[in-house]
Amino acid sequence: DSVFSHVVQAPEDPILGVTVAYNKDPSPVKLNLGVGAYRTEEGKPLVLNVVRKAEQQLVNDRARVKEYLPIIGLAEFNKLSAKLIFGADSPAIQENRITTVQCLSGTGSLRVGAEFLAKHYHQRTIYIPLPTWGNHPKVFTLAGLSVKTYRYYDPATRGLNFQGLLEDLGSAPAGAIVLLHACAHNPTGVDPTLQQWEQIRQLMRSKKLLPFFDSAYQGFASGSLDADAQSVRMFVADGGECLAAQSYAKNMGLYGERVGALSIVCKTADVAGKVESQLKLVIRPMYSNPPIHGASIVAAILRDRNLYSEWTIELKAMADRIISMRHQLYDALRARGTPGDWSHIIKQIGMFTFTGLNSKQVTFMTKEYHIYMTSDGRISMAGLSSKTVPHLADAIHAAVT
Ligand code: PLP
Repeated sequence: DSVFSHVVQAPEDPILGVTVAYNKDPSPVKLNLGVGAYRTEEGKPLVLNVVRKAEQQLVNDRARVKEYLPIIGLAEFNKLSAKLIFGADSPAIQENRITTVQCLSGTGSLRVGAEFLAKHYHQRTIYIPLPTWGNHPKVFTLAGLSVKTYRYYDPATRGLNFQGLLEDLGSAPAGAIVLLHACAHNPTGVDPTLQQWEQIRQLMRSKKLLPFFDSAYQGFASGSLDADAQSVRMFVADGGECLAAQSYAKNMGLYGERVGALSIVCKTADVAGKVESQLKLVIRPMYSNPPIHGASIVAAILRDRNLYSEWTIELKAMADRIISMRHQLYDALRARGTPGDWSHIIKQIGMFTFTGLNSKQVTFMTKEYHIYMTSDGRISMAGLSSKTVPHLADAIHAAVT
């Protein structure tokens, strides 16, 4: 008898489980809109040309070795990552009051930041939007924070519940941590406007709430790296403190390389240095030090003017294809006379559309049309192509009529 015989079968991850179900379906028309990864018009994963070039450089460099990186990762990668999110001319960077540490993609950066806060910050409560990426509550709870939600999405308008957001943050205890999606909110695709961001900033600063930005889609939302970092830069420009978790999974297509960074913006360089020393104590017993390959690719691209500019072009092409899928799906539903207002499909931004379809409708579409998505009605626009839009539109039409 096994000493583990009492262990019960755990449920599939609600997002990754969609792909498991998809893989089991033998239908030739099956469509996976669950996965949060970019696909080409042909439905294939994409390795950016610029990534291939950077990798070639790495392979050709015989002087490169596979030694351990320092606990906080590749120094040049950290510096360039801070420049990317905060802006090359950021005074906080010039004043050396940001510590940036390489972590295991966005998830690892969130976890390290949360562990640091649980150990060293006076308020253990973190407010996350409702809804949010399904992994957020788990990451923060396991790091030792206490998770509460603030209103974010309004199902009636399929837009932002701005009043509810302001009320909930307004009544949060002083000092509470607030998780903010820097852009392309997942799963809703609904972002505050710049004016609304400014109001959120004023409220949070006056209540001394600590912003923790999750930036998983910089450049992927609008096609512009600067536009997608505006929210974060507004909060840094006021001189206040914040945290930011960056991922290169989507914007460089480096999903499996697990490359990201955590930055903590502090009031002074002295504080930033001490914070960094404590981040090392969080990281060392967790995974010792991060992997070298992905960070070297990113550094090679960010440091070189030509590669950087090539990257921005390829990034914009991915963003544009997603935006074009939004228009094609919207037009297809209009053409079918599908009941309801579907304008949120073209208003929402980023990789996902929060369709407003309920779990019964989702189940129907999976069963009758072999279309796979999370039960909250979120579809990955990156998983669509001109060829598959009609099939999806037929399915949505049938599900709502
Ligand atoms: N945060 C959000 C909102 C996400 O959507 C994702 C990925 O889906 C992540 C963080 C982290 O992704 P990764 O750990 O692959 O960088």
